[in-house]
Amino acid sequence: ARTLYYVATPIGNLEDITLRAVRTLREVDVVATEDTRVTLGLLRHLHIGPKKLVAHHDHNLASSVPKLIELLEGGASVAVVSDAGTPGISDPGLALAAECARRSIPIVPVPGACAAVAAISVSGFVSTEFIFGGFLPRSGSGRKARIAEMVGERRAVVLYEAPHRMLDTLGDLKMAGAGGRGVVVAREMTKLHEEFHRGTIASAHAWYAAIAERDGKLRGEFAVVIAPLDAATLEQREGEAAAVAEERATEA
Ligand code: SAM
Repeated sequence: ARTLYYVATPIGNLEDITLRAVRTLREVDVVATEDTRVTLGLLRHLHIGPKKLVAHHDHNLASSVPKLIELLEGGASVAVVSDAGTPGISDPGLALAAECARRSIPIVPVPGACAAVAAISVSGFVSTEFIFGGFLPRSGSGRKARIAEMVGERRAVVLYEAPHRMLDTLGDLKMAGAGGRGVVVAREMTKLHEEFHRGTIASAHAWYAAIAERDGKLRGEFAVVIAPLDAATLEQREGEAAAVAEERATEA
């Protein structure tokens, strides 16, 4: 009781949920959800009976956070879920976690699927260090500055992007000088039409432009992994990682 659980749910394939997540969702008094319809569907799929659901999304935080705090302080256990993946990662969750931390209400992660981690894990890029960039600003000087930052970044970068903005983002990265940089575009991970496009930012832009032209528009969910700056950096990093591993092995 009086505990807030951040429960990761699948990003596509419904088998990607942990046993602990299922048990937590079954046992809590309240589920705070980004979209009640999505969560009802998941609970039904997991054979979890009627549950008190509280809507908790970016547009109702002013009312949902105090309401959930009141429930927690009254002794309820609450699970936070988003539509897909890990709550709080480019998803609602921040304000509630911050408020609970301030009030010393225990917050417990129940980890699982996260599109960024899934994409970087199969990228084949050095991933001992990487940047999670989330969604880029949609326009203006903020977008320009972030694009420039991504282009100059020496580490691998993972971005989220909406399908109708993918070509703009790849195009802007290309225009900003990153056309030759390696990239893995992960589309519809864990779903029926999962695919990975491996190439450069320029080749990915051309590839998806052709698909958009053929199909009228791009469909699906996309995560983009930009390679670390260059091969020399990559080699150096691998050397460093190997040296650390060797050091650890000799220490042990
Ligand atoms: N909290 C989620 C997580 O842990 O991954 C991310 C939520 S964010 C609102 C949704 C974005 O994640 C999508 O626009 C897409 O960029 C990425 N994404 C989610 N599911 C994906 C999938 N199955 N394949 C590729 N990208 C995905």
